[in-house]
Amino acid sequence: MKRLPEILGFTILAGVLGLAVALQGNANEPAGEGDAGASPAGNSFAIRDARVFDGERGIGVATVVVRDGLIESVGADVAVPDGLPVVDGAGRTLLPGLVDAHVHAWGDARRDAVRLGVTTALDMHGMPDRLPQLREERESLGDTGQADLWAAGYAVTAPGGHGTQYGFPVPAIDADTDVEAFIGERLEEGVDFIKLIVEDMSAYQGAPALPTLTPNQVTAVIAAAHAGGRMAVVHASTLADSRQALDAGADGLVHIFADRPVDQGFIESALAGDAFVVPTLSVLASFSGAGEGSGLAADPRLAPAVSAGQRATLDAVIPGVPRSDRLGQALASVRALHAAGVDILAGSDAPNPGTAHGVTMHGELELLVRAGLEPAEALAAATAVPARRFGIADRGRIAPGMRADLLLVEGDPLSDITATRAIAGVWKNGYRIQRDPAAGAPQAQLPPEDTLVSDFEADALGAAFGSWQPTTDQMAGGASTVAHRLVEGGAGGSGGALGVSGEIRPGFPFPWAGMMFFPAAEPMQPVDLSGRAEVVFQVRGDGRSYNAMLFSGPSVQSMPATLTFQAGAEWSEVRLALSDFPGADLSLVRGIAFTAGQPPGAFEFHLDQVELR
Ligand SMILES: [Zn+2]
Repeated sequence: MKRLPEILGFTILAGVLGLAVALQGNANEPAGEGDAGASPAGNSFAIRDARVFDGERGIGVATVVVRDGLIESVGADVAVPDGLPVVDGAGRTLLPGLVDAHVHAWGDARRDAVRLGVTTALDMHGMPDRLPQLREERESLGDTGQADLWAAGYAVTAPGGHGTQYGFPVPAIDADTDVEAFIGERLEEGVDFIKLIVEDMSAYQGAPALPTLTPNQVTAVIAAAHAGGRMAVVHASTLADSRQALDAGADGLVHIFADRPVDQGFIESALAGDAFVVPTLSVLASFSGAGEGSGLAADPRLAPAVSAGQRATLDAVIPGVPRSDRLGQALASVRALHAAGVDILAGSDAPNPGTAHGVTMHGELELLVRAGLEPAEALAAATAVPARRFGIADRGRIAPGMRADLLLVEGDPLSDITATRAIAGVWKNGYRIQRDPAAGAPQAQLPPEDTLVSDFEADALGAAFGSWQPTTDQMAGGASTVAHRLVEGGAGGSGGALGVSGEIRPGFPFPWAGMMFFPAAEPMQPVDLSGRAEVVFQVRGDGRSYNAMLFSGPSVQSMPATLTFQAGAEWSEVRLALSDFPGADLSLVRGIAFTAGQPPGAFEFHLDQVELR
């Protein structure tokens, strides 16, 4: 047990590198031009003779008419207006598009989700700069081709606490923070709700290992959120912390605690505060060695819509994670909470290891049924209940006036919950979603023909294409540092070079610090380097051995492939064959980092004349 955080740290190393930069401005994806062709009928049509689950209950066989992206009428006797395209619903079940109540969405997440029937998701931690655009999108009835997002912006945590390790700077609350003003800034950023993190890792490690918010701070944050008219939801992993959050007025918990089963005091507290729970059973299963990720990826009903990137996070396992009874305990807790009348919401916590956007909701529904929810209750937990609890009025139900976010499946999930996987069609704002993961997927760009990346003549971070950024293990909870500057006297008598210096410090088991080159316009976007043979550069330095880490593949969470090089006192040329990077996918190269690693201590190297030949 003691090693779990280290294992987690290692597992997330690659992921956080990707997450870090992906969160910094990658939210503005073009709204799938490839999808336009998939909606020749526009956003008006009818689905005839389908069994309908309206978000709360089955209402029998009915016809649903959609006009201009909105549901116009629902009923057994509804006539289909002349000229409207008709989808045959016989033998099928029509559901509201699913609402995933716990995700971390960046990159392809929202397109991945919608292919699997998730039309709305709630993001629990990320950069707030995209919030205005998210709001505009979800208010539109456009052919966006992706799930809409409601978001917490930055989760609220303590300095150095859980949530600060993902590589983007997170404002945190310390003893001197004016909590009201702090929450005021979050509201100013346009967050939809406030998410607090109460996590010292004691549920996993036995003893507190991370700084976290104090009970008084939790109370103050929740009060400030409520004063600002926002809900406050809480990440906690122990019964005691969860109970305390409820007693402080939390509107909901976004995980079920993992350290012990629910007790009567907790149930009473949840009922008294009308709090809901998003148990995220799928990720708990994954963290207790009982994850279903690979099984979901292999399900023939799901597989055709699963992208390579989704497959990669589904197949990801936490190496050496001990098998525990946490899942069984969590299922029992959810059973007791549900029986007592506490609202349960379906959430995936994608893309944690063993989960993927969209796909995991189908596994989560099955786990909720295992926890004692009737199939209709599990479906409500993924549609009407989260919409109601998060105050989202225009979706989550099939009724006149609702947005036409729809999921049509073969068979009857009201009797067999896994029927949700047999998807016959998904509509977002009334537009049919193209479900082939290859369609509309971003293609890797080719690099410019010129081989030069950077000669650092005038600018420390200058690049002929792509960009450079510092990178350290601080994003994984480490303490290593790096600084960069333009130094005079480059290789071969040139004017300048990139000077990189810093210190490798203990704190993360696999420490690193250095500079990362991203070959595409956006950090971590892939570039096709299969036509290039080697990365060549000039280096000099303190005599240490350094690492070149190549990030590639369909998922930003893939582990980097690493080669080493030496940096001696004199300038020397290093040539690394790209084919020597073990396991690298050269058709999808996302970044190359030049870093110092073990052992701890100060380091300095200069880089010049970087080329991709
Ligand atoms: Zn999460």
